[in-house]
Amino acid sequence: MEQVKPQLKKWTFNLTVTGLFIVALLVGIVLNPSLVYANKTTYDNFAIFHNKAIDSALLVQLDEANKLLEKSELYNPKLKLDICLNDGSIYPFIIRKIVGDNFATGFYDKVVLQGNPDYKNNYIEIRGYKWNLAQLLAHEATHCLQYDKMGLWKSNPIAQYPTWKWEGYPEYVARQNPDQKDLAKNIERLINTEQINNNGWIYFADSTGTVITYYKYWLLIKYEMDIKKMTYIQILKDTAQEETVRKEMMNWYKSL
Ligand SMILES: [Zn+2]
Repeated sequence: MEQVKPQLKKWTFNLTVTGLFIVALLVGIVLNPSLVYANKTTYDNFAIFHNKAIDSALLVQLDEANKLLEKSELYNPKLKLDICLNDGSIYPFIIRKIVGDNFATGFYDKVVLQGNPDYKNNYIEIRGYKWNLAQLLAHEATHCLQYDKMGLWKSNPIAQYPTWKWEGYPEYVARQNPDQKDLAKNIERLINTEQINNNGWIYFADSTGTVITYYKYWLLIKYEMDIKKMTYIQILKDTAQEETVRKEMMNWYKSL
């Protein structure tokens, strides 16, 4: 037994060093996508990281996303964003291993596409479900605006704002298509979708959609901003619980 202990200690030490090395390497790559992409193309305030030739339709969708972002109270015209494409680099795979299987991820100053994009038809697809691409870019870039405005320590996950506030606002910024503008009609769409077999998914007019949980977050933020005329910063500071706001919103809806 006496011999096993030093051996075990050495093992633990080696594993710790290897573990720390791998974590440092991962952090280095996550913060520097240029390490694992063949190309970087600058467009407007975006640095696009890609392996294959850029589809010009992507630039159209980036312009669309920018138009949506400009209307946000958090917008910063000087903020430069990295757009990391899912076209052969290991980068989206690493991000997926860290944060899970998403259509895309936005953090710090980076937007990482993870699903299969169709730039021309403006959607990104996973297992047959489609998300509007320009709106997804705007959603993820809004997370970057949150970090930019509030700083890493006052942003989620560290700040632990309720998810409906942290995810509802990017949806609010992004969902500005004609069929998405009217809150009452959006509530009606939710009520109708909940009556059918929906698999947790709700469709918009362009046949893209979103998960119903996010849709509900979006409605609450839309109610607070459009009807109650609150700013996003006011919503973050407000102590009203999700359920309270939902009841209030539904009372407003029934009163129409
Ligand atoms: Zn999000």
